[in-house]
Amino acid sequence: MEFSNRLKSLPTQFFATLVQKVSGAIAEGRDVINLGQGNPDQPTPVHIVKALQDAATDPQSHKYSPFRGINELKHAAADFYKREYGVEICPDTEVAIMFGTKIGLVELPLAMMNENDLMLLPDPGYPDYLSGVSLANVCYDTMPLLEENNYLPDYSKLTEEQKRDAKLMYLNYPNNPTGATATKEFFGETVTLAMESDIAIVHDFAYGGIGFDGKKPVSFLQIEGAKDVGIEMYTLSKTYNMAGWRVGFAVGNSKMIEAINIIQDHLFVGLFPAIQSAAAAALNESQQCVNELVSLYERRRNALIDACTRIGWNVTAPQGSFFAWLPVPNGHTSETFSDLLLEKVNVAVAPGNGFGTFGEGYIRVGLLVDEDRLIEAINRIEKLQLF
Ligand code: PLP
Repeated sequence: MEFSNRLKSLPTQFFATLVQKVSGAIAEGRDVINLGQGNPDQPTPVHIVKALQDAATDPQSHKYSPFRGINELKHAAADFYKREYGVEICPDTEVAIMFGTKIGLVELPLAMMNENDLMLLPDPGYPDYLSGVSLANVCYDTMPLLEENNYLPDYSKLTEEQKRDAKLMYLNYPNNPTGATATKEFFGETVTLAMESDIAIVHDFAYGGIGFDGKKPVSFLQIEGAKDVGIEMYTLSKTYNMAGWRVGFAVGNSKMIEAINIIQDHLFVGLFPAIQSAAAAALNESQQCVNELVSLYERRRNALIDACTRIGWNVTAPQGSFFAWLPVPNGHTSETFSDLLLEKVNVAVAPGNGFGTFGEGYIRVGLLVDEDRLIEAINRIEKLQLF
């Protein structure tokens, strides 16, 4: 039996190899500190679980639900954007409900692009963007995210051809993997570019709930004109520790929202309504749980950065997300350093080259274990005497 060319064109999952290596080390009984993954370690807040339990007992929840999501959740998403960002969203035409945002990011090229059309993607970036590229059989060019530009793409480096041909651009701040945040000025430049060059923008706001040092991450839709050129994807996975629940939404440009809704009409029936009700509760009710989560990640970030500084590892503190992006020592590549850490001191990290060419020279560390384990990881690394 032969697989389709489309299936064969899918990128190999770089991080599957990492997971295998880490699982192998754990199976050998080694005490591995796993900083390689991006899976939130804290439980979903109790009031959200309770909302799911209550909604699950309602027989209405057990039927097929509306393809395009329940009104309660679409209104909650619109109210959330108004309250948190001062952005007006029409719940009927400017919200699409999704089974998590990964699916939205993967299905958008299918919905909006023809074969061989050009997409612009950040490098380093979330690897699953490439799944959408392959499934839709489109082309992509990368925009380097460099430390000297605070990991923002430099639009002056785009060629005239790229500006002419690109149909869709993905951005993601707070950024996975670098932990960088965007400014309003940068998003303003993005809107101008999008208007001048007719490029649709998708801002992946997966870590929108997680900003440090009292700075709330900027929503792309807060910029004047943003809704004319793009959408923002918001997931409940990170802000409310609901990664396993599979729920997120897109808001913004009504045409792009319609494109998502049309393709989803064909791919899915609506999400389990009880999950949608609980997601609405998460967005509508007190955000104290989010404040506490951000404080927890910030304490972990500070513990990690202090420990790195103590051993002479010259690192920059992330401004948001739950990742730190650390340079590898001289004489190493991302992969040789990651392998060394796992083999010699049982510390698992994600090699930066797995996020793209410009990720070479870095590793990504997740702030998803307790402070004492983060400090212990750095103490173990200190023993290698590389800094
Ligand atoms: N975007 C980024 C940058 C991510 O890191 C992730 C998950 O790790 C996602 C999107 C997808 O999140 P979900 O599908 O859980 O909504």
